[in-house]
Amino acid sequence: MTNTAAVRAELERRMTELAARVENVEEELRAPISASFAEQATQLEGAEVLTDLEQAALAEIAAIRVAISRIDDGSYGECASCGKAIAPARLAAVPHASLCIDCANKPVRR
Ligand SMILES: [Zn+2]
Repeated sequence: MTNTAAVRAELERRMTELAARVENVEEELRAPISASFAEQATQLEGAEVLTDLEQAALAEIAAIRVAISRIDDGSYGECASCGKAIAPARLAAVPHASLCIDCANKPVRR
């Protein structure tokens, strides 16, 4: 039996951290563009990296929200695809995982 209260607290802590990171990225992106062309090019490259980081953070926030709602409805720790229990080691490494390792490694079928 998983201690969901502790998992939930950890997920909420992680989400706060990610939200702060997204905010920092947006501040960086709002910084005025430098007049020098060479510096502008560097800044634009930097902006792309920041956007990737922001995307990754936002995707993780979305996954954490799903995990928290699964704690609330009691399905946390079950694979969303095959319904088997997700290995505790996997949940320890990726607390917001919604798929067991087998399903996560399966190619997506459409
Ligand atoms: Zn599965």
